[in-house]
Amino acid sequence: MGTKAREIAGPNVKETVELLNRALADEWLAYYQYWVGAQIAHGPLRPDVQKELNEHAADEFKHANMLAKRIIELGGEPLNDPKDWVKNSTCGYDAPTNPSTIKLLQQNIKGEQWAIGVYNDMLKKIMISRDPVTYHIIRKILEDEIGHEQDLEDLLVDIKASR
Ligand code: FE
Ligand code: FE
Ligand code: MG
Repeated sequence: MGTKAREIAGPNVKETVELLNRALADEWLAYYQYWVGAQIAHGPLRPDVQKELNEHAADEFKHANMLAKRIIELGGEPLNDPKDWVKNSTCGYDAPTNPSTIKLLQQNIKGEQWAIGVYNDMLKKIMISRDPVTYHIIRKILEDEIGHEQDLEDLLVDIKASR
């Protein structure tokens, strides 16, 4: 990172990189949980649920890219071993062992709710460390996770209404 850029990244760059890496672990696990869920889904509104899960998987992949780019800009290293994903994750991984669309939606809603909590906490910490660029990235991801929760809850409402 350039000298001036480093100066405005706040005094807690090391802590910011750690937070970003924990979020990166969450994003990879979220990506995979959505991706594999979309493969196996069956039951009510299957095509709609598959489409939504695949879209969200693509968004989580984008988030992983945004986080990794920022980690590198801050002079850190993105986690380089999948074994570290579960270890560093806050949201954890909820294996989709039941392929029912209802169950998948419920599991992924829980994951999004964790993610919203994690990113909201992170924003508060980054506000204190005064790093405007990281703040902007995390705020954008938080907005996406809020949209994800909404989309999944809407699908669940539609499934329940159709029964
Ligand atoms: Fe995400
Ligand atoms: Fe999400
Ligand atoms: Mg969506």
